[in-house]
Amino acid sequence: MTLDFSYAGSPARIVFGEGRSNEAAVWLRKAGKSRALVLSTPHQKADAEKLAGTLGNLSVGVFVGAAMHTPVDVTEQAMKVVSDTDADCVVSLGGGSTTGLGKAIAYRTDLLQLVIPTTYAGSEVTNILGQTEGGKKTTVRDAKILPEIVIYDPALTLGLPVAMSVTSGLNAMAHAIEGLYAEDRNPISSLMAVEGLKAFATSLPDVVNEPRSFEARSQALYGAWLCGTVLGAVGMSLHHKICHVLGGSFDMPHAETHAVMLPHTAGFNAVAARQQLAPASEIFGGSIGRGLWDFTKSLGAPLTLRELGLTETDLDRAAEIAVQNAYYNPRPIDHTSIRALLQAAWEGSRPSD
Ligand code: NAD
Repeated sequence: MTLDFSYAGSPARIVFGEGRSNEAAVWLRKAGKSRALVLSTPHQKADAEKLAGTLGNLSVGVFVGAAMHTPVDVTEQAMKVVSDTDADCVVSLGGGSTTGLGKAIAYRTDLLQLVIPTTYAGSEVTNILGQTEGGKKTTVRDAKILPEIVIYDPALTLGLPVAMSVTSGLNAMAHAIEGLYAEDRNPISSLMAVEGLKAFATSLPDVVNEPRSFEARSQALYGAWLCGTVLGAVGMSLHHKICHVLGGSFDMPHAETHAVMLPHTAGFNAVAARQQLAPASEIFGGSIGRGLWDFTKSLGAPLTLRELGLTETDLDRAAEIAVQNAYYNPRPIDHTSIRALLQAAWEGSRPSD
């Protein structure tokens, strides 16, 4: 095989291990920061306040308004708190929604971000920000958006509900699957993708059977880091485009939509990317679409767009939007093939490839 690629390593500091979120103050001081604003969703307010307590006089306050899809009006409220408290960094404790708010603040101010992820979505290691305004979701990539420090502490994920653990894990796996056939993939991104998929293939069933298994939680978080890093490193294709359309234009839940779509988009693209997907097919039992569908089913995750609230009449418009604006995909797409793919995902049929 002839090698021909370009590769840029992420400059972010990754800290991983049980109890290591207690080191947040140490890492902020090392970075020369002294006025941290802690961010969370309303649901994780108590944890955010506890974290602010451990930061002692490094903390200048807590903002608990983070919400799904990073609404710009929430960011504006948080920006006022940043300014009122004269914060010199943000500490985001939570899933992709809280990380999104920290990124939105950093995009506007270039403040340093320290992220402590508590789901497996993987946003903390990407330079991508999706924000919503007036019912429209737009995505931007910028170096200022990439969090500088990430502390993965599996102890903080022990209480992540099983259903959310499974769907956010499948969300992360989608980054790895699309990373394998990305146009700009490189040997390192592919290694990380395969390692991340292996970590989830073993850990998610264990999380379902024993949600408080430290080993399973640790492996799943390791998978989240790897798969998220792939998302940050290379371009995504059809799968992420469709999920973006369903989330942005039909208000479909983020992680669940990824979970339902993944077997169908992977099966669809297998025809054109069989060799690139071969290591993933091996992990999931031979056929990538069928293997991922069986895996999703075994975890008790949703299998149909119908159960997530999409109506059959929405499928035509979703297909129309998904084929607008050309983007790279290993298999050529057109309205007819994408409409059929969406129908299969809506019904939840087992993919043929
Ligand atoms: P989330 O952050 O929306 O969290 C869902 C709910 O679970 C929230 O109420 C949260 O407080 C709660 N929660 C989080 N961790 C918990 C825990 N350990 N225990 C109990 N409750 C907990 O969910 P998510 O799936 O992590 O993030 C979805 C968002 O992330 C979407 O807006 C999506 O667009 C974004 N995202 C962005 C990127 C990127 O690179 N830009 C990547 C992946 C996801």
